[in-house]
Amino acid sequence: MAEPPGNRERAGKDPSRQLSHRRVPPHPEQHRPRVRREIPTTRQLGVGPTRILLRGTIARCPACGGGHVFRRWFLMEDRCPSCTLHFERVDGHWIGSLGANTVVVFGVMFVVLFSTVMISYPDTTPGWLLWVLLAIALFGPVLFFPPSRMLWTAIDILMRPLRDGEIDPRYVAVDPYRDRPVRQG
Ligand SMILES: [Zn+2]
Repeated sequence: MAEPPGNRERAGKDPSRQLSHRRVPPHPEQHRPRVRREIPTTRQLGVGPTRILLRGTIARCPACGGGHVFRRWFLMEDRCPSCTLHFERVDGHWIGSLGANTVVVFGVMFVVLFSTVMISYPDTTPGWLLWVLLAIALFGPVLFFPPSRMLWTAIDILMRPLRDGEIDPRYVAVDPYRDRPVRQG
């Protein structure tokens, strides 16, 4: 923290502090390098989107794959015990997980309904189907609660790249602040 940063590092580190020292607003050209460079989470972590989604589906931290995210079925840690990702990235974050849960449970109900009707097609649809669907509707959201939360967090970090310092830097392969941007072309 106290080591003297080089010019290159200074330009990348703590842009807010740099700006606060200025009395005059920076020229647009000067300001440009300090604008947050949005690098996709997949590139930051060096992990593909499928893997991030899979981690979420098995209720592990989508960013690092670490477990012990849930203390109990409905009680989860605020931060990942491994990579320190704060799961509730914005207020109302968990509304999305509710949506994901609903979509998945309805999807399962539809698949069960459709396949059972198809299999038993010429005959009447079995009576137990109603009870099976009712059971899925009642217990599905409960069973899918932990995965839905982590799945939504996975979707969220895929849609909105991780910010500076959002997770332990050891899990970050490419950091837009730590590393210089790769010039394209
Ligand atoms: Zn993690």
